[in-house]
Amino acid sequence: MKIHLKQIPPDGLHLEGEESCPLNELAGQDIRCVGPLRYNLDLGISDGALWANGTIAQTVELRCVACLEKFEHEIRVPAFAFHTELHGPETVDITPFMREDILLNLPPYPHCDRDGGRVCKGAKVTKSDAVSESADVGKREHDWGALDRLKLRK
Ligand SMILES: [Zn+2]
Repeated sequence: MKIHLKQIPPDGLHLEGEESCPLNELAGQDIRCVGPLRYNLDLGISDGALWANGTIAQTVELRCVACLEKFEHEIRVPAFAFHTELHGPETVDITPFMREDILLNLPPYPHCDRDGGRVCKGAKVTKSDAVSESADVGKREHDWGALDRLKLRK
């Protein structure tokens, strides 16, 4: 996302919208973009530097470390901010700043039940069970059998 410095008025600029996901080069590492990056930013120039603050959010598909199933998770950065010195160019690409903050807010050991509303099948089964169950994913839309087994063990 390129910011044209000339388009920033003295009292700052408010930007709100969507941008293509900045994580595309990470595809294949168990992280997949789901939809665009959403941003709501205030930008300004002061003392030869560009600053911004606001919120950014990106939904990604992650692989659960317990059950190995994929699930969607929204990464929100509620206090996104950066400050970068200007060295002459008329445009500044702020995508690297957004990518870095999204990555910093990625859960290091993602669990599919972290947002609630989902029961992780891997939470109470052994690793070999989890692997064989994940191999069956796709054939069955709802694995009620696994849910029932989890309830019985409580
Ligand atoms: Zn899980």
